[in-house]
Amino acid sequence: MRRILIVGGGYAGFYTAWRLEKKLRRDEAEVTLVDPRPYMTYQPFLPEVTAGSVEARHVAVPLRRNLRRTRLIAGTVVNIDHAHRTATLRPAEGAERELHYDTVVLTAGAVTRTFPIPGVADEAIGLKHVEEAVAIRDRLLTAFERAATLPPGPERRKLLTVTFVGGGFTGVEGFGELLSLATALLKFYPELSFDDLGFHLIEVRDRILPEVTDKPGQWVVEHLEKRGGHVHLGTKLVSAADDHIVLSDGTEYDNHLLVWTAGNQSNPVVARHTDLPVHPDGLFQVRADLRVGTDDAPVPDAWAAGDNAAVPDLASDVPGAYTVPNAQNAVRQGKRLAANIVADLRGRKVKPYVHHSLGTVATLGLGKGIFQYRRIVIKGVLAWLMHRGYHVLAVPTWERKVRVFLVWVAALFYGRDIASLLSVQHPRAAFVAATLGARQRRTAPDAPAPEAPAPAPAPASSGTEEAVAAAPREAGDS
Ligand SMILES: Cc1cc2nc3c(=O)[nH]c(=O)nc-3n(C[C@H](O)[C@H](O)[C@H](O)COP(=O)(O)OP(=O)(O)OC[C@H]3O[C@@H](n4cnc5c(N)ncnc54)[C@H](O)[C@@H]3O)c2cc1C
Repeated sequence: MRRILIVGGGYAGFYTAWRLEKKLRRDEAEVTLVDPRPYMTYQPFLPEVTAGSVEARHVAVPLRRNLRRTRLIAGTVVNIDHAHRTATLRPAEGAERELHYDTVVLTAGAVTRTFPIPGVADEAIGLKHVEEAVAIRDRLLTAFERAATLPPGPERRKLLTVTFVGGGFTGVEGFGELLSLATALLKFYPELSFDDLGFHLIEVRDRILPEVTDKPGQWVVEHLEKRGGHVHLGTKLVSAADDHIVLSDGTEYDNHLLVWTAGNQSNPVVARHTDLPVHPDGLFQVRADLRVGTDDAPVPDAWAAGDNAAVPDLASDVPGAYTVPNAQNAVRQGKRLAANIVADLRGRKVKPYVHHSLGTVATLGLGKGIFQYRRIVIKGVLAWLMHRGYHVLAVPTWERKVRVFLVWVAALFYGRDIASLLSVQHPRAAFVAATLGARQRRTAPDAPAPEAPAPAPAPASSGTEEAVAAAPREAGDS
């Protein structure tokens, strides 16, 4: 039995394992997948999670439910010694140990790119994981509750001020969706007005959405500004310390919610903790057939795909181009990789990965979107419907498709769900207050009972225990 180890169960890793389960005979190979998270995250739905249009749980596709024949290990691979076919595993519990394999598949994705800007590490929240999307939504909803108790003025305006840093796909979609939620919320808060909202999108380049051409990009800027957003092009964030934003063009304002969407950087394990060939930008050097290495020097038994690999783009006219790091490619690369491993195992010819882009489609909020395929540009409701149609079909498994779709159908009748569950981050608060009250009543029977504290604002960073625990472990650099 050949031992196949898959590092990372996101798009590329999940699809590789899924396909291997379908294609491999039971006696052919044993597949193990390592990931600190028990699910694959369908990231394109995260902006809709922030807006309450998609239920958080539905974007997390459970690995154990769908990968029945794969051995799943909750943990992080912190080093790969391919010369000895050994990976060092840091499991969720227990001491580090070695995993021996015959073939390795590297699909660990990328991590959020950050810069040492004052205040960012303390204040900002990313938009790459489901807990981040949930926290963004809940913080905005809670901010509305708090703002409604204040008189008009700077304190109230600060609570309703949101800043996104980074005008790529993630930033623009997240910004558009959150702006759409905030505008819709106003009808439930007669105390608040549109003028209380402050929505800022900061982009260092002179245009947003590099995935579309200049004109549609400009249209998106105008569209967001018409809806009350402030798009700061050619501008850098200088400081976010103490909830006060300072921009390179001299603009300053107080801010409540800072969302960091300034792109990705290479996974630190890939970039620094393997003996495999890595590009200067920290991605695995991969051939068109997804084997690690070059045409002249292939590395036996090592394959890579998705955001952690520099895959030659055979569909591009530009010589030396690499495939764009997106889900469209990661899914298809995962499937091709599985087919190539099986072919290799059976002594057949492997095939190169070739994919012609299907175009770009982005949501800009409920009923608003943009689509571009070469010269064809579609804007507004139709593009938004295309976005929803494409993604509901693309989210893995029928079970997840049906769940997402039913939430949308329910929203047609009842609107989106605007309940904030920020308090779930403090599940013991009510119980602790009750315990304190009982203790006080025993010592001072006439004292008024303390009330359960209101939910405090979420911690600024990724939030959950899982994320906090995973961060230094993922990096392998703690
Ligand atoms: C908000 C958002 C919206 C997006 N929208 C679109 C879209 O509309 N269309 C599109 O094409 N693309 C979109 N993308 C991009 C797309 O989601 C990514 O390109 C895709 O997820 C890459 O897949 P991957 O498998 O390489 O990495 P991921 O899906 O990120 O998976 C990597 C996995 O590896 C695990 N891992 C990391 N390090 C280790 C380690 N050391 N050991 C073990 N496991 C590890 C991680 O936990 C994770 O599960 C979007 C991305 C975001 C963030």
